[in-house]
Amino acid sequence: ATTVTKERRFEDLGLAPWLLACCKQLGFKAPSNIQYNTIPAILSGRDILASAKTGQGKTAAFALPILSALSEDPYGIFAVVLTPTRELAVQIGEQFRALGSAINVNCCVVIGGIDNVQQSLILDKRPHIIVATPGRLAAHLNNGMKLALQFCRFLVLDEADRMLGPDFELEVQKIVEHLPPKIQTLLYSATMTNSNKKLESIPIKNPYIFEDNNKYDTVETLSQYYVFMPAQAKDCHLVYLLKKHDSSSVIVFINNCRTVEAVKGMLNKLDIKSVSLHSFLSQKDRLNALKQFKSGKIRVLIATDVASRGLDIPDVQMVINYKLSNSSKDYIHRVGRTARFGRSGRAISFVTPHDVELVKNVEAAIGKQLELYTTEDEAVYR
Ligand code: ADP
Ligand code: MG
Repeated sequence: ATTVTKERRFEDLGLAPWLLACCKQLGFKAPSNIQYNTIPAILSGRDILASAKTGQGKTAAFALPILSALSEDPYGIFAVVLTPTRELAVQIGEQFRALGSAINVNCCVVIGGIDNVQQSLILDKRPHIIVATPGRLAAHLNNGMKLALQFCRFLVLDEADRMLGPDFELEVQKIVEHLPPKIQTLLYSATMTNSNKKLESIPIKNPYIFEDNNKYDTVETLSQYYVFMPAQAKDCHLVYLLKKHDSSSVIVFINNCRTVEAVKGMLNKLDIKSVSLHSFLSQKDRLNALKQFKSGKIRVLIATDVASRGLDIPDVQMVINYKLSNSSKDYIHRVGRTARFGRSGRAISFVTPHDVELVKNVEAAIGKQLELYTTEDEAVYR
């Protein structure tokens, strides 16, 4: 006998009616699993500790209930959303504005690399929502900026495992000191590890725990390959793949800024246009590069791990690991830039004899083996 599962609808989650129209407008037909499960819990006032694979709509899972609550009882700074990279903060800000356009939500993005004074002026206007990288927001607070955070209702840590890790721990703590202890705390990530010790530094009580992935699962619609080669064959293989897939949008991951620029220069000489994204660039150049890539004007983005988490560019069909990262977690996030929200995509990792151990770690983490990439595979995808 077949079991009939009831169709899941945004209408049944308790969201304010104006948001339903907005979801429809954005083409959100039905809630994803993490949205279906965590939105009602947030609306009921619970703290959240949630994980779901990459590209499952975690942003809307916290943004929708926050906007719903905001529209019912708007006051002061309503929510603080913290995220590890500047580009991700900008993207989350855009999602809040898109979802909250009907109520004219005032969302302010606070990130490094942007004029401090101008940012202070915007913050003075009491935004409803602050989306920030922790460093810059903590700096404003350290400089004695008076932000009315004492009535703030929500604290969100997107990419929560990273936000609670060593790079951001102190800055997050600094920000938490300015927030009311009764705040509702929402943690989301694709790679959550249950470390209760780390949760001690943030206000979180009896969280509603939702795990929609088996630790480090990757999505079904993603095909994952490796190519074994000597290091000196990498450029040649990269050019081959980019020419072969010359109508696809591709992100190439490389571990350091200098090699990113070298590869970009090499591709440039071969008339393959690309943009780069890494921490040695000015913030203006970083955002510009991303804009060109997102618009489809340039179809190759070469980046360090600054682009590995959270970025949502629906058209990306392929991720190439020119060099594998030392961390399997980074691998999960990198390949998660493609095959988002049910789309298909593929990841190809370049593997030299030095990288064999890294591949084994990745395979152990994702619970499956990478397939050998052969040119015969191309026929299947044509
Ligand atoms: P995650 O944070 O889980 O990696 P995102 O929040 O970036 O995923 O969302 C991935 C993409 O899916 C975005 O383009 C988003 O607009 C889209 N999306 C989110 N929820 C839905 C939905 N219910 N239906 C269709 N698309 C959705
Ligand atoms: Mg995300």
